Amino acid sequence: MILSFWEKQLLDEYDFLVVGAGIMGCSVAFELREKYANAKIGIIERDFFSNGASTKNAGFACFGSPTEILYDIQLMGERNALELVRKRYEGLQILTKRIADAGRTNFGGYELMIHDTLSKSDIQSLNEILFPIFKQTVFVDASKQIQAFQFSNIAQMIYTAFEAQVDSGKLLNAYWHLLQSKNIRFFNGLTVKKLLGNEIEAESSLNGNITCRANKIFICTNAFPIDASFKLPVKPGRGQVLITSPIEGLPFNGSFHFDAGFYYFRNVGNRVLFGGGRNLDFTSEETTDFAPNQLILDDLKLKLEEIILSNFSFSIEQEWQGIMAFSENKLPLIHSINQYATYLMACNGMGVALCPFVAKEIVDQL
Ligand SMILES: Cc1cc2nc3c(=O)[nH]c(=O)nc-3n(C[C@H](O)[C@H](O)[C@H](O)COP(=O)(O)OP(=O)(O)OC[C@H]3O[C@@H](n4cnc5c(N)ncnc54)[C@H](O)[C@@H]3O)c2cc1C
Repeated sequence: MILSFWEKQLLDEYDFLVVGAGIMGCSVAFELREKYANAKIGIIERDFFSNGASTKNAGFACFGSPTEILYDIQLMGERNALELVRKRYEGLQILTKRIADAGRTNFGGYELMIHDTLSKSDIQSLNEILFPIFKQTVFVDASKQIQAFQFSNIAQMIYTAFEAQVDSGKLLNAYWHLLQSKNIRFFNGLTVKKLLGNEIEAESSLNGNITCRANKIFICTNAFPIDASFKLPVKPGRGQVLITSPIEGLPFNGSFHFDAGFYYFRNVGNRVLFGGGRNLDFTSEETTDFAPNQLILDDLKLKLEEIILSNFSFSIEQEWQGIMAFSENKLPLIHSINQYATYLMACNGMGVALCPFVAKEIVDQL
């Protein structure tokens, strides 16, 4: 099938084209509109929703648990680790202001310590270095609540009031509506296959190959490579997620992390959403293939039975997978492909917070 004259005109000559309608692509498009009120802006998305991480994730509006921050300090030094926390915190504030109704709950976040514990002075030191960012105490020991939450085999629990939860479907839906109301054109069902200078070659299942042009192109496709000719310095990381059916008398609300953030769960109403376990099988999970990993899913179910819901009977209602992108140094990646196209990746598993910040940073620099 061939595009009509009218259809071709709809696709031609954009000021800005963004590839990928996840939270990164949406954040970039929003910032572009803020800065360029009259620019012609389009978003190209291969699927009818976004299809990568943004509508598959756990919906933690988080900035890093105590052990994750301590790990990052070891990895990248205190200054870089704190800068990353600041970007996440500011990103969350940008997002909350922009999308007020995203099914948000403010139940706070908890880190569960299974083996080692953090001493009072460890927590206090962490709070001291975080104070310039949050201007308040960030982490407190909440171990007294372990019993009330009916968790098993937990040695310590640390709470922060600065973490919240979003409904990832509502968040993206609200973003798409907002961008459409700002005259940003969505092209769904177009898969970008090639970049040639300022030209994008894309494929539509009904119309075959399509070419469009823009003065500036932002590639926000997470870990999905669009053109085999450029190698991106990111690795994919698949995330396995499951959700239980409703549990009568569920004794906790909030978002919870354990094993340095490799496992995470939260309540969604009176269900429990649980994900993670990539560290059990890193090699298989380094993929963009949305396939279940039975080893990990079985482990998640076991941990539900033994740690999280040992006093409750429950069933698994649904399982799914999402794809993350990881950079070598855990920092967001802004990579110039040619003079027209820039690749943006912020995730490293925490894009809800980071994407709005990174998008603002890059558009401010234009
Ligand atoms: C299981 C899981 C749980 C997570 N939990 C959390 C959490 O609780 N909190 C948090 O902060 N972060 C979490 N994350 C990470 C967070 O979801 C991501 O960092 C964020 O969504 C990344 O957004 P993005 O827009 O870069 O990528 P995506 O949402 O993947 O968007 C990329 C888009 O590009 C499109 N695309 C790809 N290739 C092409 C192409 N060739 N042509 C056109 N379109 C294309 C895809 O269809 C997709 O819609 C989680 C991720 C996963 C997978």
